[in-house]
Amino acid sequence: MANPSINQVLLVAGTHGNELSGLYLQKLIRDGVYQADRSTFQVKNTVGNPPAVKKNARFIDIDLNRAFSSADLESDANEKRLAAEFVKQHADNENQLIIDLHNTTSNMGATLILLSSDPYYARMGAYVKQRMPEANILFEDRKSWIDQPYLCTTGRHGLMLEVGAQAHGSLKYETLELMKNLLTAVLDYIENTNLNNPLKLNDYDAYGYIEEVMFPLDIDGMRLATVHPTSVAKTLLLLSRESLF
Ligand SMILES: [Zn+2]
Repeated sequence: MANPSINQVLLVAGTHGNELSGLYLQKLIRDGVYQADRSTFQVKNTVGNPPAVKKNARFIDIDLNRAFSSADLESDANEKRLAAEFVKQHADNENQLIIDLHNTTSNMGATLILLSSDPYYARMGAYVKQRMPEANILFEDRKSWIDQPYLCTTGRHGLMLEVGAQAHGSLKYETLELMKNLLTAVLDYIENTNLNNPLKLNDYDAYGYIEEVMFPLDIDGMRLATVHPTSVAKTLLLLSRESLF
């Protein structure tokens, strides 16, 4: 796939209504404190789930960020209605890239979640890792783009930023700073790629799914065990991205 030419970035916050870093990053942009536009594209802000933001809740009826698989957009749930409206408004812009901003209570630092391992995204991971070595790169590309249930896959180009640990409904300086730095690196990559600037990129380590491991359950349906602190909870998958460059 040739590199897409992106002339608009749609920055979405509040897809989960109690994840505040993205909403405050948008405020910094609105107040002129953080510069998001670049010479080749503009950044447009929107809020994914306004009723959930108002309620300081993750969602009203169902998880909005699982409501975007093309199969079942028809439903009475508040979030299905929002998803259908979002698709109607934003799916058709071929030169738009959607960045969906999230927080997690997991201590996973600044994580760039890429839904495709196409060279454009594989190179983005390399660039971000070089600019921000503490960032994690996660490829979640088990499903095809069209089958992904996520808001950021509405159009042709998109990704998620997931930053933690931060309790839901709270705002922490460190987390906001990590999200700001991660977003800056992503926006700079898009700008550099739009301008065809040569980038010297290296191989890097990234996370990927190997398999889902279920907790063993007792006959009462409760877990028989939890993860011991000395065990490796995350399995690092070393992906050589050399062939993709
Ligand atoms: Zn979220």
